[in-house]
Amino acid sequence: MSWNRKILVGFFVLSSVVAWKVRAEIPRVQCADTANGAQCVVMFSKPIASSIQVQSQKNTLSLTVHQENPEDPPLAFFRPVKICSVLQGYEIHRRPETILLRFNTTVPLRVTNLSLTPYEGKFLLRFALVPATTPTPVSQPLCAAAALSTSKKPLHLIAIDPGHGGIDPGARGVNGEKEKNITLEMARILQEMLQKKGYKVVLTRAKDITLRRIDRLKKIESAKADLFISVHADHNPEKSMHGASIYTLAPEASDPESARLAQRENVADQHIDGMEVSSPEVAHILDDLSKRVVLQQAKQFARLLERTLDEEDRLPFKPRRSADFLILLSATVPSVLIELGYLSNADDCKRLTSKVFLHKIAGKIVKAIEQYFVEASL
Ligand SMILES: [Zn+2]
Repeated sequence: MSWNRKILVGFFVLSSVVAWKVRAEIPRVQCADTANGAQCVVMFSKPIASSIQVQSQKNTLSLTVHQENPEDPPLAFFRPVKICSVLQGYEIHRRPETILLRFNTTVPLRVTNLSLTPYEGKFLLRFALVPATTPTPVSQPLCAAAALSTSKKPLHLIAIDPGHGGIDPGARGVNGEKEKNITLEMARILQEMLQKKGYKVVLTRAKDITLRRIDRLKKIESAKADLFISVHADHNPEKSMHGASIYTLAPEASDPESARLAQRENVADQHIDGMEVSSPEVAHILDDLSKRVVLQQAKQFARLLERTLDEEDRLPFKPRRSADFLILLSATVPSVLIELGYLSNADDCKRLTSKVFLHKIAGKIVKAIEQYFVEASL
């Protein structure tokens, strides 16, 4: 897994192009530049054989994948545009027993690190492209047995933390609504949506109970979650403040509003934990954590989330913020806190108490989660 890709080119959803009654076998092709070539991921919606033939000839690279879906009609798809530095485009030919992927390359390339893994009921074919230092004989197939994992275990575990609970109601809405109920409702919706997509989900609390922050963190770390999302709803004396915000951990707040919010959320924890929030120990943890890769991963997810939550969701001018939220202190799990909106704002409050709205936002969060793990696989 690498987060240092400078360029991510070629995110093509082909399913809309393929107007067959049956689903497309190749819904997605992704390529990213590497130091000396490219890393590619091709997602198949149906099982394919782990024996894949690879042929290279000058500036053409072909992968023949065996499949058994004779009921699918033949298909030819051409994408003649540059998709990364070394790939000028590709074409796909679906035949009764095989799918041919043909890439046009800027220089002769060869395939390395071929692997095939299940992914949410689909199959991911990953491979790296490197310069062909020794020419591959023309038309002589190279049989590459991709390693196929048959594990039925869900690939990713998402931890959802409904903020507050029990004796801690959190923020209050304009008509007395309680933040702790809204966050729990949102967590349940997210859990249902994610489980339908094959993810494993752990909630820090599944009912209205008082929970210490330290216990929330212990739960997500012992579960070995791949991603942690803490869900909250904000309050501000300034009634016009509105919109969702996405937070990652930082020793210094990105802006005064974030500092105020982190202090408010941390104080709520302090009531339960009895913990001194500004202790030098916490500052040390923050300093150490900022160097860790999990924070970069959290920021990556926050970026994707910002993209999926569009203007329609009334994102403020700075939707992606950072501050020293203690709930985000996990050193092993990428952690993001979402403020769904302001309960002190009449419009936001109305939306946050609507199941339709919560489902809509949850759908966008799930979309960002899916994108996050696809990018992480590159
Ligand atoms: Zn809160």
